[in-house]
Amino acid sequence: MPAAAISSEILAKYEPVIGIEVHVQLLTATKAFCGCANHFGSEPNTNVCPVCLGLPGALPVLNRQAVDYATLASLALNCQVRERSIFARKNYFYPDLPKGYQISQFDKPLAEHGWIDVPTPEGGWKRIGITRLHMEEDAGKSIHDGLADSATHTSLDLNRCGTPLVEIVSEPDMRTPDEAWEYVTRLREIVLYCGVSDCNMEEGSLRCDVNVSIRKKGAEKLGTKVEVKNLNSFRNVRDAVQYEIERQVELVEEGTAIVQETRLWNPNENRTYSMRSKEQAHDYRYFPEPDLPPLVVSHDFIEATRKAMPELPEPRRARMIEQYGIAPKDAQTLTATPEEADRFEAAAKKAKSPQRLANLLLNEIGGRLKALELEQAQSPVSLDGIAQAADLLEENKISSKQLKQLFDLCFEKQEDFGPVYEREKPEQISDTSALEKIIDELVAANPKQVEQYRAGKTTLAGFFVGQAMRATKGQANPALLNELVTKKLAG
Ligand SMILES: [Zn+2]
Repeated sequence: MPAAAISSEILAKYEPVIGIEVHVQLLTATKAFCGCANHFGSEPNTNVCPVCLGLPGALPVLNRQAVDYATLASLALNCQVRERSIFARKNYFYPDLPKGYQISQFDKPLAEHGWIDVPTPEGGWKRIGITRLHMEEDAGKSIHDGLADSATHTSLDLNRCGTPLVEIVSEPDMRTPDEAWEYVTRLREIVLYCGVSDCNMEEGSLRCDVNVSIRKKGAEKLGTKVEVKNLNSFRNVRDAVQYEIERQVELVEEGTAIVQETRLWNPNENRTYSMRSKEQAHDYRYFPEPDLPPLVVSHDFIEATRKAMPELPEPRRARMIEQYGIAPKDAQTLTATPEEADRFEAAAKKAKSPQRLANLLLNEIGGRLKALELEQAQSPVSLDGIAQAADLLEENKISSKQLKQLFDLCFEKQEDFGPVYEREKPEQISDTSALEKIIDELVAANPKQVEQYRAGKTTLAGFFVGQAMRATKGQANPALLNELVTKKLAG
């Protein structure tokens, strides 16, 4: 996970200060202020109407579902929800914004004063403040390439105009690229667990802008901040923060002032480029939206939403560790999305050993998928198949070596574990005298290890079990073998 860290020389002298703005599209059926479908990937300019095109006389009507979702996200992010918030017009001209303004919220946003806890390298937690969460609508999209006439024309797709968004603004509490990465990762997880967005960065349903500045260690005053846009993956967030810190330190070291500006991240060149300076910065001339009344969410509604909140990622992990005895590191991986966590839990409830199930899923199957650069969904072995394998292993009906061979066959033949196991039914040696003979030979051939074992180094039992397993080509009944080895070594 961590990228190359900022050098310790830089960190001894300077303190980076990082804040992040995240835009999240809400997963409503229709847009924020009209009945158009809120759908990614439709034919361009088909999900539009007079309201989202901003035609004269059209009036916005607020989508109830968007308010429900925004409130739920606010509470999940530990924000205080304002019972009366105000919509405002954010005025600017851009070709993909036919109205000439975006409906947003300004000085009275829906929610404020939240936080997310992120893990620290030392194994503790650090609290990152959330300044505010406000509702707004998205703009359309300018398409600069990929079309037949792209060399000479920019095309517009206004389907995205009016898509409901929440913008989540952090406090400038982060100090390292990894903290920034953790923050956006945790934020995404929480929003996903709330079910209010699909948080698909490739489709733009979650977008990040970061603000980076540096100041001399111990200084109170914040340095001049630079905003970096075009971060369409969390890896880009971390890399861009790292690059900006190093770029700014270099400038300060050579005595050049940092310019307040917006920069674009270029992931191919791993650097940022200046996009516009402060002189060209927008003055949005916010004023209250005259076509919408104040947004009122009652105390009762807020409390009912809080009560109905789904289980969030961190509490869920803690519960799963407790309930299934799985390792914290595994719990983290198994709960990346609520769907994955649900699937694992459904299987874990029936499994003879949930930890063994987790091991097979993450290491055996996960390892094979990673080596083949495949996604979980492309695995030939279903979770039921993995669960069956885990139970067989737990009951000593197959050895781990046999299991590996069976999994290899599943991948080779693109078949699930069940049919492969039925067909192959690996033989197992449960003949006590045959196994004893092998162990006797091993004991005779390794007198030194036997002596050490008897002197108290009992972990050497594993050595004998391993050797015996090898001698039987992995076919020995593991439980019986263990038992016989222990008995024989006891003398
Ligand atoms: Zn519309």
